Amino acid sequence: MSKRALITGVTGQDGSYLAEHLLAQGYQVWGLIRGQANPRKSRVSRLASDLSFVHGDLMDQASLVSALDHVQPDEVYNLGAISFVPMSWQQPELVTEVNGAGVLRMLEAIRMVSGLSTSKSTRSGRIRFYQASSSEMFGKVAETPQRESTRFHPRSPYGVAKAYGHFITRNYRESFDVYGVSGILFNHESPRRGAEFVTRKISLAVARIRLGLQDKLALGNLDALRDWGFAGDYVKAMHLMLQQDEPGDYVIGTGVMHSVRDAVQIAFDAVDLNWEDHVVIDPSLVRPAEVETLCADSSMARAALDWAPTVKFEELMQKMVESDLEQASRTRDHGELLAAADSW
Ligand code: NDP
Ligand code: GDP
Repeated sequence: MSKRALITGVTGQDGSYLAEHLLAQGYQVWGLIRGQANPRKSRVSRLASDLSFVHGDLMDQASLVSALDHVQPDEVYNLGAISFVPMSWQQPELVTEVNGAGVLRMLEAIRMVSGLSTSKSTRSGRIRFYQASSSEMFGKVAETPQRESTRFHPRSPYGVAKAYGHFITRNYRESFDVYGVSGILFNHESPRRGAEFVTRKISLAVARIRLGLQDKLALGNLDALRDWGFAGDYVKAMHLMLQQDEPGDYVIGTGVMHSVRDAVQIAFDAVDLNWEDHVVIDPSLVRPAEVETLCADSSMARAALDWAPTVKFEELMQKMVESDLEQASRTRDHGELLAAADSW
């Protein structure tokens, strides 16, 4: 019998890649969807014939219980979140509710539908739970590269909420024997990345500048260093984590760092333009507290999960520019670029 999976955040970048990956593995897949006319449902529209939807929201405990009861999943992937760090200074309470308390609500829903008692002696039932933890939890890094044991020092309300989600998942594993794992994923990108994140902001702008649709690209801190990988590789790690006999937490990244300036240079080089002619620094885009550097030590995942990234950053940025050029040319006459990329 095929396994059943429920994905929260299915309309996001990772949700769309994960849904594709699980469907290709023969899973029956449901996506938790919120709102009465979710505009981002179009991101997974090409999967519509295979993917099912169930309504629910991480802010609404009862809806999560109903969704689990309806789907009866073997695996739950909790990717739903407000994922853009600057938003977490604007709406810290909401971000804490969705990204932090939302994890608790899903874990409680799992316990409710599994009919678990509060005693540890009862085995957790069959649902396996994946929590989308983040390298943002490391924040002001205590050691480089960062691994599973590196101390957390989050630098934004987003990072703090993710740290809560991380620890509550571990706590439910230790308290109630829930099969819960956290993937501490470093930044991962793709042509489907939200336009507010720096790599996609750059690739979209470069495409539009090449086509003469805009001239300047405003950015904040060009010196920030990130370990950027390809989202399609990272969702495979999520799946592998839930196939292990024992639940555990894993760091997922490439181990290679680049600066925002490198990303800009690669993207402009891809269309034979000089970035210095177009990039302007906007101090309002510099964050109140910055994560200056992130670099993953994924040796545990590489050994235990047999996982490895397959796409180098240069190739990733070039593909994103290529995809945005294609889309921008197609939609040039139709105003703003709204559709998420379908390719790659
Ligand atoms: P996206 O921003 O692309 O997607 C976020 C998803 O969360 C959307 O589907 C959104 O749905 C959903 N969502 C938002 N609020 C709620 C809510 N109240 N209830 C249910 N769902 C909600 O993020 P990514 O795909 O890039 O990331 C997936 C997860 O991984 C997130 O948790 C993110 O924080 C985490 N992460 C991402 C990293 C990255 O580099 N991409 C790195 C480390 C962690 P809707 O369409 O309804 O808005
Ligand atoms: P994050 O690492 O999850 O916050 O991913 P982002 O893509 O949003 O940001 C990555 C890094 O790029 C951060 O250090 C930002 O400060 C830096 N950055 C510099 N300019 C910009 C910008 O204009 N937009 C965004 N999103 N990030 C920027």
